[in-house]
Amino acid sequence: ASNPDCPPLVANSQDFYTRRLYMRIVDIFNRPISSAPGSWIDVMERAREGDPCRNHPKPTGRTKRCLNLGSYNYLGFAAKDEYCTPRVIQTLAEYGCSTCSSSSDAGMTSKHVEMEGVVAEFLGVESAFVYGMGFATNAMTIPVLADKNTLIISDEMNHKSIVDGVKLSGARVKVFKHNNTQHLEYILRKSIVEGHPRTKRPWRKIIIIVEGIYSMEGEMVKLREIVALKKKYKAYLYLDEAHSIGALGRTGRGVCEQLGVDPRDVDVMMGTFTKSFGSCGGYIAGKQEMVEWIRSSSPAAYYATSMSPSAVQQVISALKIIAGEDGTTRGAEKLNRLSDNSNYFRQELKKRGFHVLGDQDSPVVPIMCYYAAKIPALSRLCLERGLAVVLVGFPATALCLSRMRICISAAHTREELKLAIDIIDEIGDKCMIKYLRGSKKVS
Ligand code: PMP
Repeated sequence: ASNPDCPPLVANSQDFYTRRLYMRIVDIFNRPISSAPGSWIDVMERAREGDPCRNHPKPTGRTKRCLNLGSYNYLGFAAKDEYCTPRVIQTLAEYGCSTCSSSSDAGMTSKHVEMEGVVAEFLGVESAFVYGMGFATNAMTIPVLADKNTLIISDEMNHKSIVDGVKLSGARVKVFKHNNTQHLEYILRKSIVEGHPRTKRPWRKIIIIVEGIYSMEGEMVKLREIVALKKKYKAYLYLDEAHSIGALGRTGRGVCEQLGVDPRDVDVMMGTFTKSFGSCGGYIAGKQEMVEWIRSSSPAAYYATSMSPSAVQQVISALKIIAGEDGTTRGAEKLNRLSDNSNYFRQELKKRGFHVLGDQDSPVVPIMCYYAAKIPALSRLCLERGLAVVLVGFPATALCLSRMRICISAAHTREELKLAIDIIDEIGDKCMIKYLRGSKKVS
């Protein structure tokens, strides 16, 4: 009940109302899952009655087994694994579930030390520092690298954790058009000529922030061009590899490997363990001096509990498999299967007339439906037909750029993907989202 003497506790901004509307129309949201997020998941049915925004609808207890096209389980490590799972269980038994302490106090176990070494080596940089949460990795790192004398130039599609980190830093921010290197260069040139808008002095530093794969677009950053620009204009480059690390490159080393860029040309490498590695947490990696600065000054190192040791073990084990150090070729097979699956899925949907975004090899496959009004029907039909998909609309995308965002996994078999394509094809006809039908061009 609201207190008549106070303004409402819950914000009544426009964002709040659109969120409520969004929660109401998107069926898969608000449904508890009762299995690991592998290639299939058990989605719990929920009671029809009740307002999903006001009273969280109670699950009925019945579950529906669905092909999972919604989780970021790119390499298939999210479900039970013959190498990872026994090691994770053993670590849980030895170290417990939580460190109950921050990494600067008593939360840095021998597992954490091992993982930081493994991560830095995998990335090909000097050092790494690990956070308990991916979102906080951006939100708690950017403020210790930037201040009011810093100019941040950020891609317009950057993730909320970056946006929040930039806000928290108090730095001046300019946003460049998504992946548009001409616009980025225009801003760089203008900013260097004009300097700080108040003092007119040169910027103390300029940081360009981009992502490896943009999670709503499935598109890769134009890394080569951006590295050239950062060198030309003496700026720093911060790269969020949440969706690209482990998912791109011949050996899974991310967008640098995929596009032939030396990782040492990226000043701040950021990534999360919640996607390709089936774990949780995030990292900052790069030169030792920068990493030690983060370790000694990020609030997360002092005020947040470090990553769970069993989650740490999951990352160590997954990285061993990817690097082929488990004595098998499973890592390389997973990587090949992920790019084959992603390319097959994207091409097949294009052939059938869908407007699909994203680059070759990218496991994020957005299918455009444009109209937000189509989201409820798409969501309901997919669930009825046993597909767990994520539908995205405003405010995560522009109002008229709603989409079905599919995440492909190495764990999906060709048969499963064929089944999904046939179902999406049928639903696409019903909901009239095959905008390319009749066009012969399949790029
Ligand atoms: N960066 C990007 C680009 C993301 O997409 C996400 C989450 N999907 C995060 C950071 C936050 O990571 P986490 O979910 O691991 O907290």
